[in-house]
Amino acid sequence: MDFPISTSDKDHVNAPLTFLTRLECSVCRTPHPAAEIQTVCRKCGKALLARYDLASARRTFTREGMKEGEYSMWRYAPVLPVGEQRNIVSLGERVTPLIPLRTMFSNFSAGKVLMKDEGLLPTGSFKARGLAMAISRAKELGISSICLPSAGNAGGAAAAYASRAGMHSWIYMPKDTPEINIEECIAYGAHITLVQGNISDAAKAMNEERKKHPEWFDVSTLKEPYRLEGKKTMAYELAEQLGWKLPDWIVYPTGGGTGLIGMWKGFEEMEELGWIGRERPKMVSVQAAGCAPIARAFVAHRGDSEFWEHAETIASGLRVPKAFADHLILTAIYASGGVALSVSDEEIRAAVSEIAKKEGLFISPEGAATVAALAHLAEERLTKETDLVVLFNTATGLKYPELIGDPRP
Ligand SMILES: *Cc1c(COP(=O)(O)O)cnc(C)c1O
Repeated sequence: MDFPISTSDKDHVNAPLTFLTRLECSVCRTPHPAAEIQTVCRKCGKALLARYDLASARRTFTREGMKEGEYSMWRYAPVLPVGEQRNIVSLGERVTPLIPLRTMFSNFSAGKVLMKDEGLLPTGSFKARGLAMAISRAKELGISSICLPSAGNAGGAAAAYASRAGMHSWIYMPKDTPEINIEECIAYGAHITLVQGNISDAAKAMNEERKKHPEWFDVSTLKEPYRLEGKKTMAYELAEQLGWKLPDWIVYPTGGGTGLIGMWKGFEEMEELGWIGRERPKMVSVQAAGCAPIARAFVAHRGDSEFWEHAETIASGLRVPKAFADHLILTAIYASGGVALSVSDEEIRAAVSEIAKKEGLFISPEGAATVAALAHLAEERLTKETDLVVLFNTATGLKYPELIGDPRP
């Protein structure tokens, strides 16, 4: 089949695309106008969520109509925030494949464990979804400089889409960020600052500098409302790929939690659109043993997390000591009947190696964490052999050359 991936070439089209109506605080529900630049709730400082006129959308935006859409995340444009086609900043955010793992999970019926391979997105990670959306919307609202603290893949994606949009990007990264993530930012022409410490320290340094640069727009996880909208397309895609049925389990490597929160929001919207029923997958949040604030909060039945001291793991995307929207992550996990758990770096390394050898997939350590986590869930008999499980590989293994650890011949 031949699908056009040509969003960025349709610059001449000017028609309104979206049913976006307003932004709403995720906690106190205060409405904020969507036509202006927004960051977090002006009243309580929590994350804002984009809201759409779904009652109107469902009259014209139908499952059947989807068949003709572009084969990229922009196929869901009516429930995405960008208002005009010409503002879409795209590098071809393709629909990612769902690959059955046929060899590794013999405790499941054949074809029941699927890996959604997000490593095939532009810049090699699913950060492309969120940053394509945030930067498109930033462009639409007249922003010309963005800034971001990043411990890995977000920096590269932000820098790439900023360059594509003709914007400046200012990226703050921990000194020990994987070399490739630093190099790609430099290649895209980003202004890089390396900071001693972790992503929280990088954020502190950035916020200090930002006082001198009021024009810098902060695209940090959930400090603006639109990265989440990019990430939620994973839910729409997954439902469509599975014939509008949801899996029993979604196993997701969690750092800042945008993907998990975004998918949960996507399911709610699809129910309002009449595309799915009330059923939901159990959401499993996987973290690394060296930085597991969500898993620790889950075990303690808490609604928010505590800062994780001395965060350390080879899965750099999971090294987030305290997620800004931890309460939304935990709400989704509890509401879904899911769990949060952590796996060790040794398990992650072993899973990278095993899935490459047995399934032909070279995945990121974050993705490998979901493979290791499913082994635990199966062992503890939380999953049944007939359950449909979707694991998320969030980046390509090619972005982690320092982790290729098998001895050479
Ligand atoms: C950022 C990142 C994550 C964590 O994603 P969130 O949605 O912010 O929790 C997981 N894996 C990779 C490869 C990442 O870059």
